[in-house]
Amino acid sequence: MASPILDRNLHIKAIDAYIDPSVPRERAIVTHGHADHARAGHGAVLATPDTIAIMKTRYGEDCAGRFEALDFGVPLRIDDVTITLVPAGHILGSAQVLVEQAGQRVVVTGDYKRGRDRTAQAYELVECDLLVTEATFGLPVFQHPQPRVEIARLLKSVADNPERSHLVGCYALGKAQRVIALLRDAGYDAPIYLHGAMLRLCALYEELGVSSGICGRRWMCPRPPLPGRSSSRRHRPFAIGGVGGFPIR
Ligand SMILES: [Zn+2]
Repeated sequence: MASPILDRNLHIKAIDAYIDPSVPRERAIVTHGHADHARAGHGAVLATPDTIAIMKTRYGEDCAGRFEALDFGVPLRIDDVTITLVPAGHILGSAQVLVEQAGQRVVVTGDYKRGRDRTAQAYELVECDLLVTEATFGLPVFQHPQPRVEIARLLKSVADNPERSHLVGCYALGKAQRVIALLRDAGYDAPIYLHGAMLRLCALYEELGVSSGICGRRWMCPRPPLPGRSSSRRHRPFAIGGVGGFPIR
């Protein structure tokens, strides 16, 4: 029996490369920019141009020995292995990794999402012989509501309570930009106040062509109302919940 293309550590033996390694490696293929997948300190990183831009923004220009950008759908031949990155639909630049060797096709999905999201390249289905998938929300107990319905509820609450702030907890990369885009697409054009941790990534999304419509150049109030602060008490913020799959309500 032929040796497997990759092992349980997502190590592609034939080219000595690891997919999303959790420790620094000489050769890494990075599916997307979230910190549990993209880490600093690798010798070489192969990833989409957007993921490389996100890594440099988060970790610095020199966060890897060198970067090699690979566009979606472009096969890269390395020895007898072919690597192709396919949109995963999770965040901007997120990719599934298709590894082909000796007629066998293995797909490592990384995090992926099939629902519509204009802030990420749309998920594409890939035929393969072996699928290695993320299953964070694979159990049937996870039934997420429709984003547009939730945004409509949020906007109704904003309209019904004009004197109060609404505080939405989001991951700074991916979720924040998606929520902003959903709010804009729903017609909400008032200022949205952001935590400082989100500003660089929102600006990067804009640079990379994903418009979130944050009031043109008016990047304002990088701090949301915090519990206990006088401004917080004055505006009596609603804590709406967590956007990222894990409700905190
Ligand atoms: Zn992720």
